[in-house]
Amino acid sequence: MNFSDSEIVASVMTENNYVTTKEQNEADVIFLNTCSIRDNAEQRVMNRLKQLQPMRKKKPGLIIGVLGCMAERLKSSLLEEAELGLRVDMVVGPDSYRDLPQLMLDAESGQKAINIILSAEETYADITPVRFASNGVSAFISIMRGCENFCSYCVVPFTRGKERSREPQTIYIEAKQLFDSGYREITLLGQNVNSYVWEDSQSNKTHFPELVAMVATVSPLLRVRFATSHPKDLSDKLIATIAQYPNICNAIHLPMQSGSTSVLSRMNRKYTIDDYMARIAAIRTAIPDCAISTDIITGFSGETDDEFAQTLKAMEQANFDFAFMFKYSEREGTLAAKKYPDDVPENVKAHRLQEVIKHQQKMSLASNKKDVGKVVEVLIEGFSKRSKQHVSGRSSHNKVVVFPDRGFAPGQYALVKITSCSAATLIGEAQ
Ligand code: SAH
Ligand code: SF4
Repeated sequence: MNFSDSEIVASVMTENNYVTTKEQNEADVIFLNTCSIRDNAEQRVMNRLKQLQPMRKKKPGLIIGVLGCMAERLKSSLLEEAELGLRVDMVVGPDSYRDLPQLMLDAESGQKAINIILSAEETYADITPVRFASNGVSAFISIMRGCENFCSYCVVPFTRGKERSREPQTIYIEAKQLFDSGYREITLLGQNVNSYVWEDSQSNKTHFPELVAMVATVSPLLRVRFATSHPKDLSDKLIATIAQYPNICNAIHLPMQSGSTSVLSRMNRKYTIDDYMARIAAIRTAIPDCAISTDIITGFSGETDDEFAQTLKAMEQANFDFAFMFKYSEREGTLAAKKYPDDVPENVKAHRLQEVIKHQQKMSLASNKKDVGKVVEVLIEGFSKRSKQHVSGRSSHNKVVVFPDRGFAPGQYALVKITSCSAATLIGEAQ
């Protein structure tokens, strides 16, 4: 989401005659687009801000801005030099990027500049993002902003504000333009894409399944992915739509968070573990060959050994292909911070995290081993990280596939016979 937002920021700045540079030392303005989801994300930003300060000596007019969720969460306290021990010139929340040129004028005249007003409407629908750090093959398209689910642990509803959806036609046009300029994969982004809804002036509504189908018709050669689906809102209609269109990837990211219904209830996730497993069953029935990935939090408030054991069991039952796994990090102002003490000791959280990671590694390896001997369609992204003799791309399941180059170009599809694998990568030969 931040990657996509940075492309919007780059677009606003480029329109105003600024240019981007890959060389930090050449920059007159440095923006850090920040995440507040866990404390360690914020710590990384603070360290980065500290590292940047010496640059001011060489460049007295240098402007350093904090953008995004941390700007929204920490507000003007980020401008308090005495408190922070470092200097920030601009603080800009996620709905204020259109105001950047004006804020730049203030900052350039030596004043501190801040805009952290959240909007109920802003979707940046008319801004064409500058794909400044892209591989030229896959791109993100932001289809909605904000979140109103208020999962008890989560800071997003506070930093990104009200949920709002972007007009479908603008999304279609952006996808078409990307395809026409050589892109072959787009990921539709939102905090809870299943609650996407747009109502036009005649009160006709477009829901997410219709939107994905519409984008899939740009071309059968354009792969379509999306993230993230909240399990409580994953509809049968969406599952049927994925099954219907070969170019909508057979990969669903469905964050489970915990395998214990009591933990899920404290998390305010609004589903039980049985509801969750019923969604998994519905996916597997309609799309037998679908990769399912998830997010898991260990050590949420009050998590007992037994509740944690249920998470391990649920992971096994769901048989995830991939997972993002995190230790619970209490965020100030959230419902959990007010209601539930952060009472699982750090070492227990960490130990449980190691256990889920170990468990997932085993399942990811088993999932990859099942692909050995199969032929999969791979969208090539470029050379493999390790060798210029190999190219790397992704399968519809979103698995990384590496195979010997035969003069392939990024954006090309190849049929690849899988010959071996690790837990993270499939290795093969193009057919
Ligand atoms: N909107 C998406 C998730 C966005 S945040 C969804 O609901 O699925 C991505 C992931 O970060 C979440 O799924 C959750 O697993 C994790 N996360 C969010 N807040 C967290 C916190 N306070 N501590 C640890 N992990 C957290
Ligand atoms: Fe956070 Fe829950 Fe919204 Fe995801 S759905 S962004 S976890 S509040």
